Amino acid sequence: MILIDGKKEAEELRKKLKDEVSALKLKYKKVPGLTVILIGEMTPSQIYVRNKEKSANEIGLKSEVIKYPESVEEKIVLDKIKELNNDDTVSGILVQLPLPKHIDKQKVIETISPNKDVDGLHPINVGNLSSGYQGSIPCTPLGCYLLIKKIESNLTGKKAVMIGRSNLNGKAMAQLLLQEDCTVTITHSKTKNLKEECLVADIIVAAVGIKELVRGDWVKKDAIVIDVGINKTEKGIVGDVAFNEVSKVAKALTPVPGGVGPMTIACLLKNTIECFKRFQN
Ligand code: NAP
Repeated sequence: MILIDGKKEAEELRKKLKDEVSALKLKYKKVPGLTVILIGEMTPSQIYVRNKEKSANEIGLKSEVIKYPESVEEKIVLDKIKELNNDDTVSGILVQLPLPKHIDKQKVIETISPNKDVDGLHPINVGNLSSGYQGSIPCTPLGCYLLIKKIESNLTGKKAVMIGRSNLNGKAMAQLLLQEDCTVTITHSKTKNLKEECLVADIIVAAVGIKELVRGDWVKKDAIVIDVGINKTEKGIVGDVAFNEVSKVAKALTPVPGGVGPMTIACLLKNTIECFKRFQN
């Protein structure tokens, strides 16, 4: 079984991106900039944002975090986003989710310029992805895609099963694999016989949020299994895949932690650089 080392792959990607930033700096006399807006005091969000800022700085991006208290008015956030949309030193804008209940998530997403939407959640970018046009691709599915391609460069005709249909993960992942000529099935909480759907899959991507949902006897021998899930337990973080069982049958599997997570942040940096390049062109 190939243990897919997301940490190592992310490190390699970050090295390439660092070189790219140096080259862009020479060419344009400026570097791409990432601005993250963090609202409230939620600890996981604070940790994610700190990691994003640290990684951005390490590869030479200009990075900035704008923090608001939990009680901030929606209008203040929307006005700040509009200001950042018009700021040429900002290539990418990310508003850390989840948001407090009084702030409309969709309004926030749609206020970010599609050209600076490094999370790839703006409807224009969602449309671009499903039409096969250029645009930002959500960071986690992009990271999963790059990991899958490392294991298998030609995915034509493979049967891929997404577990979960969120805009952030399952739907975008399905589009990426469809573009690779996979035959894609998207499953969700109302799917009947999930096990049977999984058993015919050459590729399984689990993005659900249920601890060890995917069992060893759900997985075909030699399948590639990507575990996006992050579930807190007393023993630490575990994924949506029963690692010990699935590792006995799968051809390749991502661990949790150390699989998809590091790639997500590296892909955020990649998206910021892509936004910068598209703006320059
Ligand atoms: P989400 O928006 O809550 O979506 C979960 C999806 O799972 C939904 O489509 C839901 O179906 C489906 N689902 C729920 N129960 C199911 C079941 N029993 N069988 C099949 N499908 C079921 O979650 P998300 O934002 O996509 O995140 C999913 C997981 O990935 C979470 O654990 C999250 O923490 C993790 N995550 C990890 C990273 C990373 O970098 N590693 C990044 C983002 C998210 P319905 O649509 O029918 O409700």
